[in-house]
Amino acid sequence: MNKAFVREPDADARLLCPRCASPGTAVGNGPVETHVRPESQAALRDAAWYCGNSACEVAYFNMFEQTVCVSELVTPVYPYNLDAPMCACFGFTSDDVEADIEDGQPVRIRVLLAKSQSPQARCQTLAVDGNCCMREVQRLYMKLRSER
Ligand SMILES: [Zn+2]
Repeated sequence: MNKAFVREPDADARLLCPRCASPGTAVGNGPVETHVRPESQAALRDAAWYCGNSACEVAYFNMFEQTVCVSELVTPVYPYNLDAPMCACFGFTSDDVEADIEDGQPVRIRVLLAKSQSPQARCQTLAVDGNCCMREVQRLYMKLRSER
């Protein structure tokens, strides 16, 4: 079958941010309850998407174009605030990635990888986008290493 005619199984999975038109990431109630102030949670109860564009002020939105801005979150979050933990579960920061670059060995990242595969990892609830941070940690490591 021609791929162009295969429809997405869930069209909502690629909902676009109403502010910046970046593709959103569907999140469950966990990230919303963890990161959004209680008074701003109501609109996102049923279904929410996360906008990962750090230049966009929208953090979460829904299919009715209701939005929760970064300023309405409980704490600063990465990547909107680069000093905030990249990993909500274990408090790993971009400073840890830089320290690994200094050492010439991804020691801290390997420890984080082991932890991320343990039952203590609660990315679906704690991560701002509901996903494990490892991909972003690896991306930043490769980026910083190539800049040296
Ligand atoms: Zn956006």
